[in-house]
Order: sequence, then structure tokens, then C-alpha cells
Amino acid sequence: MSEEVPADVWRRITDAGIRVLRVPTPFQVGRVNTYLLEDEPLTLIDSGPNSGKALDELERQLDSLGHRIEDLELVIITHQHIDHLGLVDIIAKRSGAEVAALDLLAPFVENFGADADRDDEEAAALMLHHGISEEVVTALRQVTGSFRAWGSKAKVTTPLTDGETLELRDRRLEVQHRPGHSPSDTVFWDAERRILIAADHLIKHISSNPLISRPLDGSGDRTQALVTYLRSLKRTRELPAEIVLSGHGEPITDHAALIDERFALHQRRAEKLYRLIAERPRTGHELAQALWGDVAVTQAFLTLSEVIGHVDLLVNAGYVRETEDGDVVRYETTSDQPADELGDLIPGGNPAVRRG
Ligand SMILES: [Zn+2]
Repeated sequence: MSEEVPADVWRRITDAGIRVLRVPTPFQVGRVNTYLLEDEPLTLIDSGPNSGKALDELERQLDSLGHRIEDLELVIITHQHIDHLGLVDIIAKRSGAEVAALDLLAPFVENFGADADRDDEEAAALMLHHGISEEVVTALRQVTGSFRAWGSKAKVTTPLTDGETLELRDRRLEVQHRPGHSPSDTVFWDAERRILIAADHLIKHISSNPLISRPLDGSGDRTQALVTYLRSLKRTRELPAEIVLSGHGEPITDHAALIDERFALHQRRAEKLYRLIAERPRTGHELAQALWGDVAVTQAFLTLSEVIGHVDLLVNAGYVRETEDGDVVRYETTSDQPADELGDLIPGGNPAVRRG
């Protein structure tokens, strides 16, 4: 791994009985980090996608540490994305391991195919409503449908509740729900060691995409994914964490500074979108095009989620409103407030925003 992370940080991770297994994925994000806790029970956090290649690598890396899949006793799922949960079923069947996940996530994992199909349907309707063409929506559904094979159903034997503490022989992990990147994001806090296992909630080299998703409780309303995410980040910022272990990339040793950078980034992006909307009313799709140009089909939903998330901040603050134009939604400004006078748009206040 990179030399940017000091050796003593790796030593603390290893001394804590935590081993990082980096499992390949077919996705743009590259490898996913799964974490082996050499504890009782022998625990794996996340699994990698459901592919022969991922399974082979996982076995090889476990073997190099003197373990086998069959030895695993507990598998914990951090959130609902396929690069994290795809192999859970195979591992659980081979090892007899218990499977733990947030109680809200359990039905999704157990009905994986059907629930993911419903997510796709809603995503398609949302994209059309925000001005993305039928061709792109149809093409993207084919791609996500084919990605489905990298996920899998699994039986959750140990539902976790937000705030509960998982007791292992050598550690206590507090379960904390941190929705935003996905509705089920769960982080695991080892207060004694000040180590947070955060999965995709916070990643050093990329800002986690707050993807618009169907609420897990089955309610119909779209969640404000970025608003939810920023609130969750604020809670994480308050933890006295010294090491944060992510679902992708390197360990983080300055999480408060990184979160402040993220707040500043989202503030700037919302201001930029406000400027574009102030020029003339635009759809979500037109805003995404103005920011990123024509993107690959696979990125269409992701960039739309980014745009809508930031426009939610502007709508909540009263600077922008939605207008229906036929079947499509357009955004327009409510006044001629200059973009640099919008003030802090981050919910709950942003310690990093300094204005002259
Ligand atoms: Zn994810």
C-alpha cells in the first residue's frame, strides 16, 4: 500500500488484529477493502462482489494469513452495494458463519434481486422526470441489470440496531447508522482504540456519491441523499477517531480535516449550480451536462444524483424552486441573490466555511 500512510498507523491496525483484504471488482472504483478481524468470532467485514475472481483472491489473501473461508464465524455487511455484499451468501454457506447487518438492511439483502429491480424502476422514472432521454435510461437499465449478477441474496442471521454494541473477545464495536452514500450505511466504532470502520461513508481519495435510493422502510418519498449524507458526516466528524478504515483506498488519519474539505466542496458545487440556474431555468440533466459535459451512460444516474443532491440544498434554503414543465422538472431561482452571498448551505452549519 501507499507510503503516504505512516508505518505506525499500519502497526496500530495490525496490532488491533485487523487485516485488510483488497478484493478486485469489475467496477470503476477498483478494489474493495474487506476487513478481517482476528478475534473471536473470526470476523469478516464486507465480502467483495460475487465473482470467481473475487472469491479466489479473498481465499488467497486469507490463506496468506493462515485462515480459510471455512474458518469464518461472522460476516458483517456495511451497506447494500454489490461490491460489498456479493460474496456474503457463498461465504456463509461454506463456513456456516453468522451474517450481521443493520436491521433496516436485512430485508433488502434477503430480497436482493426484487428490491434492486424496484430501485432500478424508480431510478428510471426519476431520470426521465429530470430530462434524461429514454435511450439513455433504457441503456443504463440494461447495464445495471447485468451488474445485478455481482450481487446476491443472503440470509441475515444477526440483525443489528443503531447504537448497539457488538461484543467480540478483544473488542467492542458500536454500531452506528450513517445513511447518505446509501440508505443503509453502517459504521463500526471501536472507542477504546479510536478506530472507525466506515466503509464507503468516508473515502480518502474520492468524495462518496450520495446516490438517490428508495427508502429502506418502503415509504414512497425520495430521500434527500446529500442532505442526509452531510448530517451523517457531521456526526462522524464529532467522533474522536484516530484511524478511519474505508471501503476503498487508504486509511484516513485526519478525518475531521477531510470532512471539512468535503463540506467546502459541496458548498462550492451548490454555489456553482446556483449560478447556472440563475442564468436560466434548467433541468437536472442540463445542469449535469453543464458541469460534466456528456457523460458515459453508466455515469448518468450518478451525476444526476449529484446535481439533485446539491439542488436540494438550494431548495431547502429557499433560493431555488422546482417548476413542472410537462413531464419534466426544471429548476429556477427565487430571487436575484448573488451566488457568493448564499451563506452556509451545509445543514447544521459548516465549521470550514470562512467568509470575508
Ligand atoms: Zn458503496
